[in-house]
Amino acid sequence: MNKKTSDSAQSGGTSANDSAYQVLARKYRPQKFSELVGQDALVRTITNAIREDRVAHSFILTGVRGVGKTTTARIIARSLNCVGADGQGGPTISPCGICEHCKAIADSRDVDVLEMDAASRTGVDNIRELLDGVRYLPASARFKIYIIDEVHMLSIAAFNALLKTLEEPPPHVKFIFATTEIRKLPVTVLSRCQRFDLRRIGAEQLVAHFGSVAESEGVKAEAEALKLIA
Ligand SMILES: [Zn+2]
Repeated sequence: MNKKTSDSAQSGGTSANDSAYQVLARKYRPQKFSELVGQDALVRTITNAIREDRVAHSFILTGVRGVGKTTTARIIARSLNCVGADGQGGPTISPCGICEHCKAIADSRDVDVLEMDAASRTGVDNIRELLDGVRYLPASARFKIYIIDEVHMLSIAAFNALLKTLEEPPPHVKFIFATTEIRKLPVTVLSRCQRFDLRRIGAEQLVAHFGSVAESEGVKAEAEALKLIA
């Protein structure tokens, strides 16, 4: 570590360093499954589901805060709605990143991918409002995708409203739920979702991942130093 970096680390980081960090974080935020470090089971299951054209209509992602649930939810959304560079592609395990849907989802501005944070919108009215559009076809994408974060925060009435839709989801609708507290979810809801437990990745994988990030940034990183960070 050079002197400048250690100084700014002590002072809590300058704004220049903060924005440099933002750029890096954005650059290395995973955009497709192959970049999702350590979530092999999920990647395998979704790969097979897409290949066999048997993708679930509802997913639930669970894991501790910061494990990458929202990032993963958006990658699933991209996979389902990607049309490829030529606009002709179907669901894919490797979303292209350049079609209109891939780009819009990355920026959280896709009209067919609706995100709601259930931590701040817990009531039955919130869910009804969100699900109001379920019966309409997507505006331009293949699927209308509902991403509900912190879904365990919903009220019982809200869960019941949601359950009605989960029991008979229209074919053009997909749900992706995320939660840190899977035990707080009603079994009736859980049983209708494909569940993925996202795990913190092991130190060895982290070392390899940091190493590849450092390498593509043209930074030489000592193996021992990477282990310390991991
Ligand atoms: Zn795409």
